[in-house]
Amino acid sequence: MKKHFKTFMILILSFLVCLSFSACSAPFTGGSADTDDGSVSRTVYAMDISISLKVWGDQAEQAVEAAEKELHRIDALLSVTDEQSQLAMLNARAADTVSDEALDVITASIRMSELTGGSFDISVYPIVKAWGFTTGGRYRVPDEDEISDILPHIGMDKFTLTVNENDDHGTITFSDPETMLDTGAVTKGYASDRISGILDQYDIDSAIISLGGNILAKGKKPDGSLWHVAVNDPADPDNSYAGIAAVEDRFLVTSGGYQRYFEDETGHRYIHIMDPETGHPVENDLSSVTVISKSGTEADALSTALFVKGLDKAVDFWKKSDVLDFEMILIDDKGRTYITEGLSDSYETSSGKAKIISKK
Ligand code: AMP
Ligand code: MG
Repeated sequence: MKKHFKTFMILILSFLVCLSFSACSAPFTGGSADTDDGSVSRTVYAMDISISLKVWGDQAEQAVEAAEKELHRIDALLSVTDEQSQLAMLNARAADTVSDEALDVITASIRMSELTGGSFDISVYPIVKAWGFTTGGRYRVPDEDEISDILPHIGMDKFTLTVNENDDHGTITFSDPETMLDTGAVTKGYASDRISGILDQYDIDSAIISLGGNILAKGKKPDGSLWHVAVNDPADPDNSYAGIAAVEDRFLVTSGGYQRYFEDETGHRYIHIMDPETGHPVENDLSSVTVISKSGTEADALSTALFVKGLDKAVDFWKKSDVLDFEMILIDDKGRTYITEGLSDSYETSSGKAKIISKK
């Protein structure tokens, strides 16, 4: 009976989520499609992921077109594996200037690194590479000597950004020849901010955009109700949900150990989020961190940084944070959920249980 109930719940939840996510509908290839629900939907491949856009409004077609162009443009500027990107050119020391969105993202990354006390660190790239977490890379466990050799090259103090106010360009100067940057932990969130701006330009009041673990729930649903966005169950992310958040005009970003990882022959799991202090994949008491915010960039950087911090420090960070305005859902390694007080009426767990974190 209990099992049937669980299956039933999963079906209901999947249905709820499918109402919100274009990812659940059949993928559209080549152009966009007008759907039964009146939206214009499109699936775009960029940033190594499949991105789904579902947009309602008179100018939905134009908005989707412009959004797709923007996604490819940001990808071309910031992909570490595309040799022509501004980031790859910096890393190869083939150029030292950054412009437009690359400048925005690096500036935001420096700020988020400072605010998170270094848990967020875009200079972890040499360590990310050493463990094989790059496109086309082969996963491997580097030995401790190799990690000790790489660690001195990691740190946000290993480069400086000088912004030229006249032409919106910046110059990056590396003080260490081996330091390399990877904005992968914030690019998708930043891209979702840009998409949100594009949707505003086309007077779109209702859209749901899914970039991997990053969701932009724009406005409300076309019927005026709130969006229902699911948070994956880290123990069974493909089949079940830990809970559902009811939101309006928010970015929801999840960093989870289940999203990208490999296992060694003993079954030990190594995940794609690195502790910049140790040079090792994070291993702590968290399974996933979801940040809900009005800024996609902040939500993306924070979900990564709070995952690095672990449960107690993440809770502490939220309690003391007066600069950054956000709510969060933490799921620990025992499957227990912790939510900040602003979500007490808008987040429902599948288990019916959640510990509320309050400021006091
Ligand atoms: P996310 O999925 O947004 O949590 O970002 C994880 C990605 O960002 C990884 O695949 C790495 O490329 C990079 N990364 C890993 N650890 C960190 C970190 N501590 N700070 C910033 N970027 C990181
Ligand atoms: Mg992130």
